[in-house]
Amino acid sequence: MTKDSVNKFLLISIDCWRYDALSRTNPLFNTPKFDLLTKDFTLAEKFFVTAPATRPSHTSYFTGLYPFEHGLYGQTYLKMFEGIPNLFQLFADEGYHITGRSERAEVFRFLDYEPFITSIDPNAKAQQLGSLEDLISDLKQPSDTPQFCFLHFWYTHGGYGMSGIPGAPSLGSLVNQGKTDEALRYYYAAATHILEFKLVEILKQLDLPNWAVFIFGDHGEGICEELIDHGSTLNQNVLHVPLLTHIPGVEKLDLPDAPISAIDLFPTITHLANIDTEYKGYGKNLLYPSEINDDRLVLSELDSLFGIGFLSQKNLDMPHQRVTSRTTIDNEEISRYTEGVRLWSLTDGEYLFREDQQTGEYVYRHVMRSEDVECGDPEQFRNAYDDILMCSNYQHLQLQDSTPEEREILEARLRNLGYIE
Ligand SMILES: [Zn+2]
Repeated sequence: MTKDSVNKFLLISIDCWRYDALSRTNPLFNTPKFDLLTKDFTLAEKFFVTAPATRPSHTSYFTGLYPFEHGLYGQTYLKMFEGIPNLFQLFADEGYHITGRSERAEVFRFLDYEPFITSIDPNAKAQQLGSLEDLISDLKQPSDTPQFCFLHFWYTHGGYGMSGIPGAPSLGSLVNQGKTDEALRYYYAAATHILEFKLVEILKQLDLPNWAVFIFGDHGEGICEELIDHGSTLNQNVLHVPLLTHIPGVEKLDLPDAPISAIDLFPTITHLANIDTEYKGYGKNLLYPSEINDDRLVLSELDSLFGIGFLSQKNLDMPHQRVTSRTTIDNEEISRYTEGVRLWSLTDGEYLFREDQQTGEYVYRHVMRSEDVECGDPEQFRNAYDDILMCSNYQHLQLQDSTPEEREILEARLRNLGYIE
């Protein structure tokens, strides 16, 4: 597949956008304008995020690395490991015009790419009440200006625009009463608003044939018995998200049967832009699907050992220099979350294997049917997970700083493998 390099990139992240919140996968979705605008886009059917949380997941999109490699093991880890190239910086270094806009820009606080992301509407106090005009005028650069743009929509995040409506139900209680379909209607309505209004208004302004566009979820949303939102476990509704792609000169992206991961965007996008990176991660260039092994397993990770509730507005306003490491402020460790968990999962796109790292409990589940099944060989997945950890080309970054807890887990892992007594 040869083509001239592309020089306009648009990445759109819809927070909590799960696989069934799209007309192509769900006939309940009524988004005719969005469907028309994106009719030539390819939908990846087996696409998975690396983490069930906004910060680690986006960091994987922008670096091509798994959480254990980039350092944001979970949502409340404060910083990335140092020295990791990210898409914003790479494109800025190449002279691209950068647009980074979010309905909740402060969620990226303390991360390397934070300086590139501002509000969707800088004049609006409440982003959901803001205008798209400022953003659209920034997107409309002369046709020969190379552009890298990232947009992040938050309206689909917990609350789904229901706050302030008298009598608005809690989705958790609806699910508990067996009214999951009713709960889903509220969530779907928020996703429809983003697709059918905001994305339509933006996409129709662009000369789409010249733009490489990637529309994806940063994670999905549970809205099921196992979890209502997204942060507490690795669940198929949370990890399996849509990815819509449009690449100039590529009529239809020929995706592999194997699962693909959020980490695949980094090598794909830098390849399209002809940007040389010394990338040595597990991400695969989606333009060369034949190089993706049929037996590929993709990883997701969850770590909530620290500071649940830490990301309050007050903490997010803290000066940068007070964050002294990934888990310390003013050199003091942020509080532990006593009920915190550390989980990992691997999927082949059809089945998902999940293990609790502290208890060894596991589940094996069909992704689309959300059905637990017997796992004949858990060791196969444990070995595959160990291989991913041990063969990572970024293990040296973990030495930058590790907490006693991390060291303990690392040692336990090595002990299990027989590397140490
Ligand atoms: Zn998110």
